[in-house]
Amino acid sequence: MYFPDLPNNLDLPLLENAILKWWYTTDIVSRYLHKNDDSEKTFSFIDGPITANGSMGVHHARGRTLKDVFQRFKNAQGFAQRFQNGFDCQGLWVEVEVEKDNGFNSKKDISDFGLDKFTQTCVSRVDKFSKIQTEQSKRLGMFMDWDNSYYTNSQNNNLYIWYFLKQVHQKGWLCKKKSATTWCPRCETGLSQHEEADGYKEITDTSVYLKFKLSGKANEYVLAWTTTPWTLSANVLLAINTKFEYVKAKSGGDYLYLAKLSAERLGLTDYEAIDANTLLNLPYESVYDIPAQKDVKHYITNWEMVDPVEGTGVVHIAPGCGQEDFELGKKLSSDMIAPLDETGHFLQGYGELSGMYAHDVAPKVFEYLTSTGALFKTEAITHRYPHCWRCKTKCLFRLEDSWYIKSDEIRPLMKAAADKVNWHPKYVGRRMQNWLDSMEDWMISRKRFYGLALPFYECSCGELTIVGSLEELKTVAIDPKMVDELPSLHRPWIDNIKVKCPKCGESVSRISDVGDCWLDAGVVPFSTLNYLSDKKYWEKWFPSDLVLEMIEQVRLWFYSMLFFSVALENTLPYKNVVAHAEVRDESGERMSKTKKNGIPYDDAVEKMGADAMRWLYCQQKPHTNVNFGYNIADKVKREHFLILWNSYRFFTQHANMENWQPGEEFSPQDLTNTIDKWLVSRLNSTIKQVTESIEKYQTSKVTSAVESFVSDLSTWYIRRNRDRKDNFTLLHYCFTELSRLTAPFTPYLSEAIFQNLQGVTVGESTESVHLQSWPKFTPELIDTWLESQMTIVRDNCQEIHALRQKSGLKVRQPLASATIVDKLDEQFLAIIKEETNVKAVLIGNEVSIDSNLTPELIEECESRDLIRAIQVMRKEQGLKVNDRITIAAPKWPKNFETEILTKTLADSIVIGDALVVDKA
Ligand SMILES: [Zn+2]
Ligand SMILES: [Zn+2]
Repeated sequence: MYFPDLPNNLDLPLLENAILKWWYTTDIVSRYLHKNDDSEKTFSFIDGPITANGSMGVHHARGRTLKDVFQRFKNAQGFAQRFQNGFDCQGLWVEVEVEKDNGFNSKKDISDFGLDKFTQTCVSRVDKFSKIQTEQSKRLGMFMDWDNSYYTNSQNNNLYIWYFLKQVHQKGWLCKKKSATTWCPRCETGLSQHEEADGYKEITDTSVYLKFKLSGKANEYVLAWTTTPWTLSANVLLAINTKFEYVKAKSGGDYLYLAKLSAERLGLTDYEAIDANTLLNLPYESVYDIPAQKDVKHYITNWEMVDPVEGTGVVHIAPGCGQEDFELGKKLSSDMIAPLDETGHFLQGYGELSGMYAHDVAPKVFEYLTSTGALFKTEAITHRYPHCWRCKTKCLFRLEDSWYIKSDEIRPLMKAAADKVNWHPKYVGRRMQNWLDSMEDWMISRKRFYGLALPFYECSCGELTIVGSLEELKTVAIDPKMVDELPSLHRPWIDNIKVKCPKCGESVSRISDVGDCWLDAGVVPFSTLNYLSDKKYWEKWFPSDLVLEMIEQVRLWFYSMLFFSVALENTLPYKNVVAHAEVRDESGERMSKTKKNGIPYDDAVEKMGADAMRWLYCQQKPHTNVNFGYNIADKVKREHFLILWNSYRFFTQHANMENWQPGEEFSPQDLTNTIDKWLVSRLNSTIKQVTESIEKYQTSKVTSAVESFVSDLSTWYIRRNRDRKDNFTLLHYCFTELSRLTAPFTPYLSEAIFQNLQGVTVGESTESVHLQSWPKFTPELIDTWLESQMTIVRDNCQEIHALRQKSGLKVRQPLASATIVDKLDEQFLAIIKEETNVKAVLIGNEVSIDSNLTPELIEECESRDLIRAIQVMRKEQGLKVNDRITIAAPKWPKNFETEILTKTLADSIVIGDALVVDKA
């Protein structure tokens, strides 16, 4: 027996864990990683860092599967590669989880805890989860250079960002500006444009219509509208749009100015048209009589953003409380009132609002407006409103000093570079162009603790020092020795180093801000490729041939890498970008904690098996959502894996029974049998199709090609050739090629079959399917004519079988003839004859069968039924395949006695009361 026994029940997790252990207790993985080190051709993949902030989810497994698939494919093809995995290890999201763990609610809690301890806790958190994620990724079947992963909190990574910031500063792109930033009151920091874009949620708020009294006019008001009542105490302007018609409407004893469209919608039908221009610059009175509003000059202005489709056509403007309002206020040099502290509470000077949380004041505001008679009405409104992408808190707007990298100069360069990238699918490239069009200056500072320490030293004399390296820091530090002794570049330690202002000589502290975490990830194509220390190495691996992440990364990682690359080298950082979509639940719903429809990765992988998970992900086009769940994995197993497994077992059992072993030379060119030639052709076409599809990152075409080959192999080739003993070499060749072909997709199952093909059980060999080269197809072996003829054969067989079923004629009942329409060669007609159990195949105008049963045909069927019954009894009695028997039966067709004896390995058949089978 050459092939070791395989269990008939395919227990993937059991099989996988045994293989996993073998891979990592031998040198298989390291041989795989270094297989092509000396190769001339390179394939550079750069891994987008996974956030080391929790255990891996099944959604992470999708991208990681695809990454592993493409790297394995290129490795089998002989490309030298880097297999560096990355972890995202610093930034706000780590802080948020550490705060949650420790029950912190504010920055003050962190200061009380101690900044040094806080940073250490953040570091141990990412250490812990990067280790867990490494093990989880190994379990998924990923082969990476695990001991050489990069971590974005490393000194190396942070110093590369210092270098970048210095370069950017030298180009004149770095600036500090005041702006109304979207602000998370819990995290107490501003959010950048791309972070904000990540956190929009649809919510319902109460909007308010209110009357602003025109100064010096009795009973004349402007009717304004706002969805953020908390900002009314910071009102400075009212804006109308003179492009539209405005009216003076009567409401009770009052006159209200508003857009005509709005007046009609609000039922204010008693109005007269006015010239909107007469409203411009009219002064009005604040609705709040509070210290903060003293000395503010309120007036009506024109603004093209106002649209009367909503509200009243009059918009209340608070430049200290919103981005667009801020821009308008800046343009008009208006007053600006910034009412909130960092935690979103009102400062002193806001009357009864002082000390209150901004999102809590709406009822108080309505009460107040009612008491002063300014309230016209309130109305529920559903709108998209920013929420913090990390902690989900409803955001506010604050005026803050933040650091930015200007984007106007770099924008066209980035657009040009992005245009040269191959985006998969193409629309991702358009999305990038749109994003770049709308790209504002990049807000790179955060008022937080655990992140890149921005190396900015701002002296009170106005001098700004940007430090680009540790050496530079030493030259400007007041005490250079402290730089050598720095335990980490993080806060609080870095903050102890003071530099000497080159202009006035004063001691200067670092600004306390830390960096946006997308700086950490954007620098990766430089920091991990030794851009500063080994240019040759960098040139070898840059730009990367492939990056692959979720589609959201267009405005995150893909964007930040592009920014770095264009800023430092004016070139693209990647040649191919594959963007993949989401993982949903079985019914296509988004997975979410509240719906409890998510499946933890560890459960999924140990229940369905990593290969089932991987296959399921590969079955979808990368850019469409994947529905994920146990039923879908079961389907993968039933409809593909088990068919392959059972076919393979069938082959090995029969080969073992004949004491066959591989060894003889096999040249598929020499095959003469039609169906053998067909199988070889199908195999080679499948290899061709898989290779071409994977080159284009089209995994779904790969899985369907493989599934259809396996189905052809099992339900056609093997089923039609069950009794043959002369095709073991051919089948061995097929399964060997198939195991190499599927190795990138199902690394475990392919390995299991490959090991068995070598005649060993897992663990006994030092050879692995993952050290093999990619199977090559032989064009001369692909016979498309033969494949198409066979398809016609199969279609006809299917039709004939259907006709039999309709007439109640089982397949075991031989028929005199069947008629088909297609003109086929004799070799194909022979296959139809055999498959459909007819004595002759005729050509005619339509498919039909001759359902007349002669006594001979009936007897032949009886003999087949009897043979089958005897085979079943042999099996039930546990007889071996080659055990001889004797038979007793009530009757049998005498013309077929010899055939019955031969086919059932019987020595004799005698008359008996019932069918009895005995061992001879
Ligand atoms: Zn937050
Ligand atoms: Zn100075």
